[in-house]
Amino acid sequence: MKINIIGAGVAGLSAGCYLQMNGFETTIFERHSTCGGLCTSWKRNGYTFESGMQWLLGSGKSNPFYQLWSELIDMDSILFVHHDVRMEIEVKDNYDIFGDKVFHLFTNLTRLEKYLISIAPEDESVIRQLIHTIRRMQSYEIPPLIKSVPELLPWYRKIRYIKYLPLLIFLNQVKRETNFTFAEKLKNPFLKEAFRLLFDGDEMPLLILTMPLAFNDLNGTGYPIGGSIDFVGHIEKKYIELGGKIRYQSDVKKIVVENNHAKGVLLSTGEIIPSGITVSAADWNFTIFKALEGHYVNQTILELQSQEKLKVYYSVFMVSLGVAATFPDKPHFLRFPLPQPLISPDGSKYERMEVHINNYDPTSAPEGKTVISISYYTRYADYWIDLRHSDQSKYESEKNNFARLMIDAADEKFHGLKEKIEEVDIATPATFQRYTNNWKGSVQGWLPGKNMIAQSPVKTELPGLKDFYLIGHWTIPGGGLPVAIKSARDVAQMICHQQKTVFKTPSP
Ligand SMILES: Cc1cc2nc3c(=O)[nH]c(=O)nc-3n(C[C@H](O)[C@H](O)[C@H](O)COP(=O)(O)OP(=O)(O)OC[C@H]3O[C@@H](n4cnc5c(N)ncnc54)[C@H](O)[C@@H]3O)c2cc1C
Repeated sequence: MKINIIGAGVAGLSAGCYLQMNGFETTIFERHSTCGGLCTSWKRNGYTFESGMQWLLGSGKSNPFYQLWSELIDMDSILFVHHDVRMEIEVKDNYDIFGDKVFHLFTNLTRLEKYLISIAPEDESVIRQLIHTIRRMQSYEIPPLIKSVPELLPWYRKIRYIKYLPLLIFLNQVKRETNFTFAEKLKNPFLKEAFRLLFDGDEMPLLILTMPLAFNDLNGTGYPIGGSIDFVGHIEKKYIELGGKIRYQSDVKKIVVENNHAKGVLLSTGEIIPSGITVSAADWNFTIFKALEGHYVNQTILELQSQEKLKVYYSVFMVSLGVAATFPDKPHFLRFPLPQPLISPDGSKYERMEVHINNYDPTSAPEGKTVISISYYTRYADYWIDLRHSDQSKYESEKNNFARLMIDAADEKFHGLKEKIEEVDIATPATFQRYTNNWKGSVQGWLPGKNMIAQSPVKTELPGLKDFYLIGHWTIPGGGLPVAIKSARDVAQMICHQQKTVFKTPSP
Protein backbone atom coordinates (compact mmCIF):
# COMPACT_ATOMS: atom_id res chain seq x y z
CA MET A 1 0.00 0.00 0.00
CA LYS A 2 1.26 3.50 -0.87
CA ILE A 3 1.31 6.12 1.88
CA ASN A 4 1.99 9.82 1.35
CA ILE A 5 3.49 11.70 4.30
CA ILE A 6 3.45 15.49 4.42
CA GLY A 7 6.55 16.98 6.09
CA ALA A 8 10.08 15.70 6.74
CA GLY A 9 10.37 16.90 10.33
CA VAL A 10 11.20 14.37 13.05
CA ALA A 11 7.58 13.15 13.07
CA GLY A 12 7.35 12.66 9.29
CA LEU A 13 10.73 10.92 9.06
CA SER A 14 9.95 8.68 12.04
CA ALA A 15 6.56 7.70 10.61
CA GLY A 16 8.28 6.96 7.32
CA CYS A 17 10.77 4.64 9.03
CA TYR A 18 8.14 2.74 11.03
CA LEU A 19 5.88 2.33 7.99
CA GLN A 20 8.73 1.18 5.74
CA MET A 21 9.70 -1.36 8.42
CA ASN A 22 6.16 -2.70 8.18
CA GLY A 23 6.10 -3.15 4.43
CA PHE A 24 4.39 0.06 3.32
CA GLU A 25 5.65 2.11 0.38
CA THR A 26 6.01 5.68 1.61
CA THR A 27 6.94 9.02 0.06
CA ILE A 28 7.57 12.12 2.15
CA PHE A 29 6.74 15.50 0.61
CA GLU A 30 8.78 18.33 2.12
CA ARG A 31 8.36 21.94 1.03
CA HIS A 32 11.86 22.89 2.18
CA SER A 33 15.15 21.78 0.61
CA THR A 34 16.29 19.96 3.78
CA CYS A 35 14.69 17.78 6.43
CA GLY A 36 14.30 18.39 10.17
CA GLY A 37 11.62 21.10 10.30
CA LEU A 38 12.08 22.88 13.62
CA CYS A 39 14.80 20.44 14.59
CA THR A 40 17.52 21.96 12.46
CA SER A 41 20.82 23.83 12.46
CA TRP A 42 22.42 25.99 9.80
CA LYS A 43 25.99 26.90 8.94
CA ARG A 44 27.38 30.44 8.65
CA ASN A 45 31.05 31.09 8.05
CA GLY A 46 32.28 28.09 10.06
CA TYR A 47 29.70 28.44 12.83
CA THR A 48 26.70 26.12 13.22
CA PHE A 49 23.64 27.84 14.62
CA GLU A 50 21.14 25.64 16.39
CA SER A 51 17.38 25.97 16.24
CA GLY A 52 15.49 23.33 18.12
CA MET A 53 17.68 21.14 20.27
CA GLN A 54 18.60 21.90 23.84
CA TRP A 55 17.99 18.42 25.14
CA LEU A 56 16.65 15.13 23.86
CA LEU A 57 14.39 13.08 26.12
CA GLY A 58 15.68 9.52 25.88
CA SER A 59 19.38 10.29 25.46
CA GLY A 60 20.30 7.70 28.09
CA LYS A 61 19.31 4.06 28.58
CA SER A 62 17.50 4.90 31.82
CA ASN A 63 14.78 6.67 29.88
CA PRO A 64 12.01 4.75 28.05
CA PHE A 65 12.30 7.01 25.01
CA TYR A 66 15.83 5.68 24.49
CA GLN A 67 14.25 2.43 23.31
CA LEU A 68 12.12 4.31 20.79
CA TRP A 69 15.02 6.31 19.35
CA SER A 70 17.05 3.08 19.23
CA GLU A 71 14.45 1.53 16.95
CA LEU A 72 15.38 4.19 14.39
CA ILE A 73 19.00 5.06 14.99
CA ASP A 74 22.16 3.71 16.56
CA MET A 75 22.10 5.71 19.78
CA ASP A 76 25.57 4.43 20.73
CA SER A 77 27.02 6.29 17.76
CA ILE A 78 25.86 9.64 19.20
CA LEU A 79 27.77 11.39 21.95
CA PHE A 80 25.44 13.08 24.43
CA VAL A 81 26.34 15.86 26.86
CA HIS A 82 24.51 15.61 30.20
CA HIS A 83 24.90 18.93 31.96
CA ASP A 84 25.57 19.12 35.72
CA VAL A 85 23.51 22.28 35.92
CA ARG A 86 20.29 22.60 33.95
CA MET A 87 20.25 26.39 34.10
CA GLU A 88 21.47 29.29 36.17
CA ILE A 89 19.10 32.04 37.20
CA GLU A 90 20.41 35.34 38.46
CA VAL A 91 17.93 36.89 40.83
CA LYS A 92 17.44 40.61 41.51
CA ASP A 93 20.21 42.76 43.00
CA ASN A 94 18.58 43.00 46.40
CA TYR A 95 18.66 39.22 46.89
CA ASP A 96 21.76 37.16 47.25
CA ILE A 97 22.86 34.05 48.99
CA PHE A 98 26.37 33.82 50.43
CA GLY A 99 27.22 36.79 48.18
CA ASP A 100 26.02 34.85 45.11
CA LYS A 101 23.07 36.16 43.14
CA VAL A 102 22.87 33.08 40.95
CA PHE A 103 20.54 30.15 41.57
CA HIS A 104 22.02 26.89 40.24
CA LEU A 105 19.49 24.29 39.16
CA PHE A 106 21.61 21.15 39.55
CA THR A 107 20.53 18.07 37.60
CA ASN A 108 21.69 15.58 40.22
CA LEU A 109 18.91 15.32 42.78
CA THR A 110 21.13 14.57 45.77
CA ARG A 111 23.28 17.59 44.96
CA LEU A 112 20.22 19.74 44.31
CA GLU A 113 18.64 18.77 47.62
CA LYS A 114 21.83 19.55 49.55
CA TYR A 115 22.23 22.86 47.74
CA LEU A 116 18.63 23.95 48.34
CA ILE A 117 18.80 23.07 52.03
CA SER A 118 22.12 24.90 52.41
CA ILE A 119 20.46 28.00 50.96
CA ALA A 120 17.28 27.69 52.96
CA PRO A 121 17.53 25.49 56.07
CA GLU A 122 14.25 27.06 57.20
CA ASP A 123 12.56 25.41 54.19
CA GLU A 124 14.07 21.96 54.68
CA SER A 125 10.80 20.06 54.95
CA VAL A 126 9.31 21.68 51.80
CA ILE A 127 12.53 21.00 49.89
CA ARG A 128 12.69 17.37 51.00
CA GLN A 129 9.07 16.95 49.95
CA LEU A 130 9.86 18.38 46.49
CA ILE A 131 12.82 16.04 45.97
CA HIS A 132 10.79 13.11 47.30
CA THR A 133 8.07 13.91 44.72
CA ILE A 134 10.64 13.91 41.92
CA ARG A 135 12.12 10.62 43.11
CA ARG A 136 8.66 9.06 43.16
CA MET A 137 8.29 9.99 39.49
CA GLN A 138 11.48 8.03 38.84
CA SER A 139 10.14 4.99 40.62
CA TYR A 140 7.28 4.31 38.19
CA GLU A 141 8.00 2.06 35.26
CA ILE A 142 6.47 3.54 32.10
CA PRO A 143 7.91 1.89 28.95
CA PRO A 144 4.80 -0.15 28.02
CA LEU A 145 2.66 3.01 28.03
CA ILE A 146 5.08 4.64 25.65
CA LYS A 147 5.18 1.69 23.29
CA SER A 148 1.47 0.97 23.06
CA VAL A 149 -1.62 2.69 21.72
CA PRO A 150 -4.20 2.12 24.47
CA GLU A 151 -7.18 2.18 22.05
CA LEU A 152 -5.72 -0.75 20.14
CA LEU A 153 -5.22 -3.00 23.15
CA PRO A 154 -7.63 -5.87 23.88
CA TRP A 155 -9.38 -5.68 27.29
CA TYR A 156 -7.18 -8.38 28.88
CA ARG A 157 -4.06 -6.30 28.11
CA LYS A 158 -5.72 -3.06 29.15
CA ILE A 159 -6.47 -4.58 32.53
CA ARG A 160 -2.73 -4.90 33.17
CA TYR A 161 -2.55 -1.13 33.10
CA ILE A 162 -4.26 -1.06 36.45
CA LYS A 163 -0.75 -1.13 37.90
CA TYR A 164 -0.29 2.45 36.63
CA LEU A 165 -3.19 3.68 38.74
CA PRO A 166 -0.87 4.79 41.58
CA LEU A 167 1.11 6.85 39.07
CA LEU A 168 -2.08 8.54 37.82
CA ILE A 169 -3.27 9.20 41.36
CA PHE A 170 0.13 10.58 42.23
CA LEU A 171 0.29 12.86 39.16
CA ASN A 172 -3.23 13.99 39.88
CA GLN A 173 -2.11 15.08 43.34
CA VAL A 174 0.85 17.11 42.11
CA LYS A 175 -0.57 18.52 38.87
CA ARG A 176 -2.09 21.61 40.48
CA GLU A 177 1.17 22.86 41.97
CA THR A 178 2.71 25.73 40.01
CA ASN A 179 6.08 27.41 40.47
CA PHE A 180 4.19 30.34 42.07
CA THR A 181 2.18 28.21 44.52
CA PHE A 182 5.35 26.33 45.42
CA ALA A 183 7.24 29.63 45.92
CA GLU A 184 4.50 30.68 48.36
CA LYS A 185 5.36 27.71 50.57
CA LEU A 186 8.97 28.86 50.89
CA LYS A 187 10.16 31.23 53.60
CA ASN A 188 13.59 32.01 52.17
CA PRO A 189 13.34 35.15 49.97
CA PHE A 190 16.13 34.10 47.58
CA LEU A 191 14.63 30.69 46.93
CA LYS A 192 11.13 32.13 46.67
CA GLU A 193 12.34 34.53 43.98
CA ALA A 194 14.31 31.80 42.15
CA PHE A 195 11.22 29.58 41.90
CA ARG A 196 9.10 32.49 40.71
CA LEU A 197 11.66 33.10 37.96
CA LEU A 198 11.93 29.49 36.79
CA PHE A 199 9.84 30.16 33.69
CA ASP A 200 11.04 33.70 33.14
CA GLY A 201 8.43 35.21 35.42
CA ASP A 202 5.46 33.14 34.15
CA GLU A 203 3.31 30.87 36.28
CA MET A 204 3.51 27.30 34.93
CA PRO A 205 2.67 23.84 36.28
CA LEU A 206 5.60 22.71 38.45
CA LEU A 207 5.45 19.35 36.63
CA ILE A 208 7.17 21.11 33.68
CA LEU A 209 10.19 21.38 35.96
CA THR A 210 9.91 18.28 38.10
CA MET A 211 9.33 15.74 35.29
CA PRO A 212 12.48 16.72 33.35
CA LEU A 213 14.45 16.90 36.63
CA ALA A 214 13.44 13.29 37.30
CA PHE A 215 14.90 12.38 33.89
CA ASN A 216 17.93 14.74 34.15
CA ASP A 217 19.02 13.04 37.36
CA LEU A 218 19.12 9.67 35.56
CA ASN A 219 21.02 11.11 32.58
CA GLY A 220 17.96 10.74 30.37
CA THR A 221 18.03 14.19 28.78
CA GLY A 222 21.22 15.08 26.95
CA TYR A 223 22.32 17.28 24.10
CA PRO A 224 23.63 15.32 21.08
CA ILE A 225 27.03 16.53 19.90
CA GLY A 226 26.58 17.79 16.34
CA GLY A 227 23.18 19.26 17.23
CA SER A 228 19.88 18.91 15.41
CA ILE A 229 21.26 18.60 11.91
CA ASP A 230 23.39 15.56 12.77
CA PHE A 231 20.65 13.97 14.84
CA VAL A 232 18.02 14.33 12.13
CA GLY A 233 20.57 13.16 9.55
CA HIS A 234 20.65 9.78 11.32
CA ILE A 235 16.85 9.38 10.96
CA GLU A 236 16.86 10.55 7.32
CA LYS A 237 19.64 8.02 6.53
CA LYS A 238 17.67 5.21 8.17
CA TYR A 239 14.54 6.15 6.23
CA ILE A 240 16.39 6.04 2.93
CA GLU A 241 18.09 2.73 3.82
CA LEU A 242 14.62 1.33 4.49
CA GLY A 243 13.65 2.27 0.93
CA GLY A 244 11.69 5.43 1.73
CA LYS A 245 11.57 8.32 -0.76
CA ILE A 246 11.74 12.03 0.06
CA ARG A 247 10.66 14.66 -2.43
CA TYR A 248 12.20 17.95 -1.35
CA GLN A 249 10.87 21.35 -2.46
CA SER A 250 7.47 19.74 -2.82
CA ASP A 251 4.92 22.03 -1.25
CA VAL A 252 1.64 20.26 -0.53
CA LYS A 253 -1.29 22.54 -1.24
CA LYS A 254 -4.26 20.25 -0.67
CA ILE A 255 -5.12 16.77 0.50
CA VAL A 256 -7.20 15.14 -2.22
CA VAL A 257 -10.45 13.71 -0.80
CA GLU A 258 -13.04 11.53 -2.54
CA ASN A 259 -16.17 10.33 -0.74
CA ASN A 260 -14.61 11.30 2.59
CA HIS A 261 -11.51 9.16 1.99
CA ALA A 262 -8.08 10.83 1.68
CA LYS A 263 -6.82 9.81 -1.72
CA GLY A 264 -3.51 11.64 -2.15
CA VAL A 265 -1.84 15.04 -2.18
CA LEU A 266 -1.95 17.96 -4.58
CA LEU A 267 1.32 19.88 -4.85
CA SER A 268 1.54 23.63 -5.56
CA THR A 269 2.85 22.69 -9.00
CA GLY A 270 -0.51 21.09 -9.78
CA GLU A 271 0.82 17.54 -9.64
CA ILE A 272 -1.44 15.02 -7.88
CA ILE A 273 0.18 12.01 -6.18
CA PRO A 274 -2.35 9.34 -5.25
CA SER A 275 -2.03 7.11 -2.17
CA GLY A 276 -4.08 4.67 -0.12
CA ILE A 277 -3.42 6.55 3.12
CA THR A 278 -2.25 10.11 3.81
CA VAL A 279 -0.37 11.10 6.96
CA SER A 280 0.16 14.77 7.74
CA ALA A 281 3.23 15.52 9.83
CA ALA A 282 2.85 19.20 8.98
CA ASP A 283 1.27 22.03 10.93
CA TRP A 284 -2.13 21.36 12.58
CA ASN A 285 -3.86 24.53 11.41
CA PHE A 286 -2.55 24.23 7.83
CA THR A 287 -3.62 20.59 7.61
CA ILE A 288 -7.16 21.03 8.90
CA PHE A 289 -8.10 24.47 7.61
CA LYS A 290 -6.07 24.83 4.42
CA ALA A 291 -5.16 21.40 3.05
CA LEU A 292 -8.60 20.01 4.02
CA GLU A 293 -10.42 23.38 3.75
CA GLY A 294 -12.02 23.01 7.20
CA HIS A 295 -14.42 20.26 6.01
CA TYR A 296 -13.52 17.79 8.79
CA VAL A 297 -13.98 19.63 12.07
CA ASN A 298 -16.02 19.32 15.22
CA GLN A 299 -16.66 21.59 18.20
CA THR A 300 -13.38 20.59 19.89
CA ILE A 301 -11.35 21.46 16.79
CA LEU A 302 -13.09 24.82 16.48
CA GLU A 303 -12.38 25.55 20.15
CA LEU A 304 -8.76 24.62 19.60
CA GLN A 305 -8.55 26.96 16.64
CA SER A 306 -9.95 29.86 18.63
CA GLN A 307 -7.50 28.90 21.40
CA GLU A 308 -10.30 28.44 23.94
CA LYS A 309 -9.19 24.89 24.76
CA LEU A 310 -5.43 25.35 24.58
CA LYS A 311 -3.08 28.20 23.78
CA VAL A 312 -0.54 27.98 20.99
CA TYR A 313 3.01 27.57 22.34
CA TYR A 314 5.15 30.70 22.20
CA SER A 315 7.30 31.59 19.24
CA VAL A 316 10.87 32.82 19.57
CA PHE A 317 12.92 35.84 18.57
CA MET A 318 16.44 34.41 18.46
CA VAL A 319 19.76 36.09 17.83
CA SER A 320 22.63 33.66 17.23
CA LEU A 321 26.16 34.98 17.43
CA GLY A 322 29.45 33.58 16.20
CA VAL A 323 32.00 34.95 18.66
CA ALA A 324 35.80 34.82 18.34
CA ALA A 325 36.37 33.91 21.99
CA THR A 326 35.84 31.00 24.35
CA PHE A 327 33.80 31.06 27.54
CA PRO A 328 35.00 28.02 29.48
CA ASP A 329 33.91 29.41 32.87
CA LYS A 330 30.48 30.58 31.83
CA PRO A 331 27.33 28.52 32.34
CA HIS A 332 25.78 26.98 29.23
CA PHE A 333 22.37 28.47 30.05
CA LEU A 334 21.89 31.68 32.03
CA ARG A 335 18.94 33.93 32.75
CA PHE A 336 19.65 37.32 34.28
CA PRO A 337 17.89 40.64 34.98
CA LEU A 338 18.44 43.64 32.69
CA PRO A 339 19.28 47.10 34.05
CA GLN A 340 16.45 48.50 31.89
CA PRO A 341 13.61 46.54 30.34
CA LEU A 342 13.73 45.84 26.61
CA ILE A 343 10.57 46.58 24.66
CA SER A 344 10.11 44.52 21.53
CA PRO A 345 8.36 46.08 18.52
CA ASP A 346 5.70 43.37 18.99
CA GLY A 347 4.80 44.92 22.35
CA SER A 348 6.47 42.36 24.65
CA LYS A 349 8.36 43.81 27.59
CA TYR A 350 11.39 41.90 28.79
CA GLU A 351 13.00 42.54 32.15
CA ARG A 352 15.36 39.61 31.87
CA MET A 353 17.48 37.91 29.24
CA GLU A 354 18.14 34.25 28.35
CA VAL A 355 21.56 33.34 26.98
CA HIS A 356 22.79 29.94 25.76
CA ILE A 357 26.55 29.57 25.49
CA ASN A 358 27.36 26.58 23.35
CA ASN A 359 30.71 25.91 25.03
CA TYR A 360 30.10 22.15 25.17
CA ASP A 361 29.85 21.22 21.47
CA PRO A 362 33.22 21.60 19.70
CA THR A 363 31.53 21.00 16.33
CA SER A 364 29.49 24.21 16.62
CA ALA A 365 32.37 26.65 16.11
CA PRO A 366 35.97 26.72 14.88
CA GLU A 367 38.63 26.26 17.59
CA GLY A 368 38.87 29.22 19.94
CA LYS A 369 35.40 30.45 18.96
CA THR A 370 31.91 29.98 20.38
CA VAL A 371 28.27 30.15 19.37
CA ILE A 372 26.09 32.19 21.72
CA SER A 373 22.36 32.56 21.32
CA ILE A 374 20.10 35.10 22.95
CA SER A 375 16.41 34.43 22.71
CA TYR A 376 13.04 35.72 23.74
CA TYR A 377 9.77 33.84 23.75
CA THR A 378 6.90 35.89 22.42
CA ARG A 379 3.13 35.56 22.44
CA TYR A 380 2.86 38.09 19.62
CA ALA A 381 4.25 36.12 16.71
CA ASP A 382 1.52 37.44 14.41
CA TYR A 383 3.06 40.92 14.65
CA TRP A 384 6.26 39.71 12.95
CA ILE A 385 4.48 37.38 10.51
CA ASP A 386 2.03 40.11 9.39
CA LEU A 387 4.72 42.80 9.22
CA ARG A 388 6.91 40.65 6.98
CA HIS A 389 3.96 40.23 4.60
CA SER A 390 2.81 43.83 4.65
CA ASP A 391 6.09 45.78 4.75
CA GLN A 392 9.28 43.80 4.26
CA SER A 393 11.64 46.77 4.65
CA LYS A 394 10.02 47.86 7.95
CA TYR A 395 10.21 44.23 9.09
CA GLU A 396 13.93 44.08 8.28
CA SER A 397 14.69 47.35 10.05
CA GLU A 398 12.65 46.48 13.19
CA LYS A 399 14.18 43.01 13.31
CA ASN A 400 17.73 44.39 13.02
CA ASN A 401 17.12 47.21 15.52
CA PHE A 402 15.68 44.89 18.15
CA ALA A 403 18.51 42.41 17.63
CA ARG A 404 20.98 45.29 18.10
CA LEU A 405 19.31 46.21 21.41
CA MET A 406 19.54 42.59 22.53
CA ILE A 407 23.22 42.41 21.63
CA ASP A 408 23.90 45.68 23.49
CA ALA A 409 22.17 44.29 26.57
CA ALA A 410 24.17 41.04 26.35
CA ASP A 411 27.35 43.08 25.97
CA GLU A 412 26.65 44.83 29.27
CA LYS A 413 26.69 41.43 30.91
CA PHE A 414 29.56 39.87 28.96
CA HIS A 415 31.87 42.85 28.61
CA GLY A 416 33.72 42.99 25.32
CA LEU A 417 31.36 40.53 23.65
CA LYS A 418 30.34 42.92 20.87
CA GLU A 419 33.80 43.51 19.48
CA LYS A 420 34.41 39.76 19.15
CA ILE A 421 31.23 39.04 17.19
CA GLU A 422 32.03 37.69 13.72
CA GLU A 423 28.62 36.45 12.63
CA VAL A 424 25.03 37.41 13.47
CA ASP A 425 21.93 35.44 12.52
CA ILE A 426 18.45 36.64 13.43
CA ALA A 427 15.39 34.38 13.45
CA THR A 428 12.00 35.94 14.19
CA PRO A 429 8.64 34.20 14.58
CA ALA A 430 8.17 34.96 10.86
CA THR A 431 11.35 32.96 10.14
CA PHE A 432 10.07 29.94 12.09
CA GLN A 433 6.70 30.20 10.38
CA ARG A 434 8.23 30.63 6.90
CA TYR A 435 10.67 27.74 7.14
CA THR A 436 8.47 25.21 8.91
CA ASN A 437 4.89 26.40 8.25
CA ASN A 438 4.12 26.19 11.99
CA TRP A 439 1.03 28.20 12.89
CA LYS A 440 1.94 31.49 14.60
CA GLY A 441 5.59 30.41 14.48
CA SER A 442 4.90 28.02 17.38
CA VAL A 443 8.04 26.17 18.42
CA GLN A 444 6.34 23.26 20.21
CA GLY A 445 2.72 23.07 19.04
CA TRP A 446 0.33 23.74 21.94
CA LEU A 447 1.23 25.03 25.38
CA PRO A 448 0.43 22.44 28.02
CA GLY A 449 -2.86 23.37 29.68
CA LYS A 450 -3.30 23.67 33.42
CA ASN A 451 -4.35 20.02 33.56
CA MET A 452 -1.19 18.47 32.19
CA ILE A 453 -2.27 14.90 32.68
CA ALA A 454 -5.69 15.18 31.07
CA GLN A 455 -6.19 13.39 27.76
CA SER A 456 -5.09 15.54 24.84
CA PRO A 457 -8.03 17.18 23.03
CA VAL A 458 -6.03 16.90 19.78
CA LYS A 459 -6.69 13.69 17.86
CA THR A 460 -4.71 11.86 15.21
CA GLU A 461 -7.89 11.15 13.22
CA LEU A 462 -10.37 13.75 11.99
CA PRO A 463 -14.15 13.40 12.29
CA GLY A 464 -15.66 11.97 9.14
CA LEU A 465 -12.41 11.53 7.20
CA LYS A 466 -11.06 8.06 6.42
CA ASP A 467 -7.54 6.94 5.45
CA PHE A 468 -6.01 10.03 7.02
CA TYR A 469 -3.88 10.58 10.13
CA LEU A 470 -2.30 13.60 11.80
CA ILE A 471 0.99 13.28 13.68
CA GLY A 472 3.70 15.56 15.06
CA HIS A 473 4.22 17.95 17.93
CA TRP A 474 0.69 19.36 17.70
CA THR A 475 -0.85 16.05 18.83
CA ILE A 476 0.06 16.30 22.52
CA PRO A 477 0.27 19.67 24.33
CA GLY A 478 3.85 20.55 25.19
CA GLY A 479 5.11 19.08 21.93
CA GLY A 480 8.81 18.52 21.44
CA LEU A 481 10.73 15.62 19.94
CA PRO A 482 9.29 12.88 22.19
CA VAL A 483 5.79 13.73 20.97
CA ALA A 484 7.02 13.74 17.36
CA ILE A 485 8.36 10.16 17.54
CA LYS A 486 5.63 8.78 19.81
CA SER A 487 2.80 10.11 17.60
CA ALA A 488 4.54 8.70 14.50
CA ARG A 489 4.98 5.28 16.08
CA ASP A 490 1.38 5.21 17.36
CA VAL A 491 -0.02 6.04 13.95
CA ALA A 492 2.16 3.39 12.28
CA GLN A 493 0.62 0.91 14.75
CA MET A 494 -2.87 2.18 13.96
CA ILE A 495 -2.25 1.78 10.22
CA CYS A 496 -0.94 -1.77 10.73
CA HIS A 497 -4.04 -2.54 12.80
CA GLN A 498 -6.29 -1.07 10.08
CA GLN A 499 -4.49 -3.17 7.44
CA LYS A 500 -4.67 -6.25 9.69
CA THR A 501 -0.90 -6.72 9.85
CA VAL A 502 1.21 -7.13 12.98
CA PHE A 503 3.28 -4.04 13.83
CA LYS A 504 7.00 -4.88 13.81
CA THR A 505 10.08 -2.99 14.95
CA PRO A 506 13.67 -4.19 14.98
CA SER A 507 14.42 -6.20 18.11
CA PRO A 508 16.50 -4.17 20.59
C1 LIG B 1 14.29 27.18 19.71
C2 LIG B 1 13.71 25.81 19.88
C3 LIG B 1 14.16 24.99 20.92
C4 LIG B 1 13.63 23.70 21.08
N1 LIG B 1 14.15 22.89 22.02
C5 LIG B 1 13.72 21.61 22.12
C6 LIG B 1 14.34 20.69 23.01
O1 LIG B 1 15.32 21.02 23.67
N2 LIG B 1 13.83 19.43 23.09
C7 LIG B 1 12.75 19.02 22.36
O2 LIG B 1 12.32 17.87 22.49
N3 LIG B 1 12.15 19.87 21.50
C8 LIG B 1 12.61 21.14 21.35
N4 LIG B 1 12.03 22.00 20.45
C9 LIG B 1 10.81 21.57 19.75
C10 LIG B 1 11.05 20.56 18.64
O3 LIG B 1 12.09 21.00 17.80
C11 LIG B 1 9.75 20.40 17.84
O4 LIG B 1 8.68 20.16 18.72
C12 LIG B 1 9.85 19.22 16.86
O5 LIG B 1 11.01 19.33 16.07
C13 LIG B 1 8.59 19.18 15.98
O6 LIG B 1 8.72 18.14 15.03
P1 LIG B 1 7.54 17.83 14.01
O7 LIG B 1 8.08 16.86 13.03
O8 LIG B 1 6.32 17.49 14.76
O9 LIG B 1 7.20 19.22 13.29
P2 LIG B 1 8.08 20.21 12.40
O10 LIG B 1 9.47 20.21 12.87
O11 LIG B 1 7.35 21.49 12.38
O12 LIG B 1 8.07 19.55 10.96
C14 LIG B 1 7.04 19.79 10.03
C15 LIG B 1 7.64 19.65 8.63
O13 LIG B 1 6.57 19.74 7.69
C16 LIG B 1 6.99 20.54 6.60
N5 LIG B 1 5.80 21.11 5.97
C17 LIG B 1 4.91 21.97 6.53
N6 LIG B 1 3.95 22.29 5.66
C18 LIG B 1 4.23 21.61 4.53
C19 LIG B 1 3.59 21.54 3.25
N7 LIG B 1 2.48 22.24 2.97
N8 LIG B 1 4.14 20.76 2.29
C20 LIG B 1 5.27 20.04 2.54
N9 LIG B 1 5.92 20.09 3.72
C21 LIG B 1 5.39 20.86 4.71
C22 LIG B 1 7.86 21.59 7.27
O14 LIG B 1 8.70 22.25 6.33
C23 LIG B 1 8.61 20.76 8.30
O15 LIG B 1 9.78 20.20 7.75
C24 LIG B 1 12.58 23.27 20.23
C25 LIG B 1 12.16 24.08 19.18
C26 LIG B 1 12.74 25.32 18.98
C27 LIG B 1 12.36 26.11 17.78
